Amino acid sequence: MTNIASNCKAFCEVCGHGVYNLEKHLQSEDHKRNLRKEQGVILMAAKAFVLIETVGVRSKEVVTALKQVEGVEVDTVTGPYDVIAVVAGETLNDIGDLITAKIHPIAGISRTVTCLVMEDK
Ligand SMILES: [Zn+2]
Repeated sequence: MTNIASNCKAFCEVCGHGVYNLEKHLQSEDHKRNLRKEQGVILMAAKAFVLIETVGVRSKEVVTALKQVEGVEVDTVTGPYDVIAVVAGETLNDIGDLITAKIHPIAGISRTVTCLVMEDK
């Protein structure tokens, strides 16, 4: 690695730079902040709001069906949509698969609009 100064004794993978004293560095606020950031990114599940229009008076059945799906939270709402589901997954691909495989086939859903949640960085 070219970014390690020759007088650095160790390299911190979390912070991505060389350090003089690794033990001391691991206790530093800078390192802890970077560690939290890294763990946050790993733990940060991808999330989407799925706005759902139902056919007729079937929103109750749709909600019941949605509640069976793992990773889905659901609420009945007023306004232009009947049901809003919050879908969480490890990646956006997981969410897409889940929506296609588990939500679209539910009887009584006439239309869905998926809004992916942006991570603020
Ligand atoms: Zn570090």
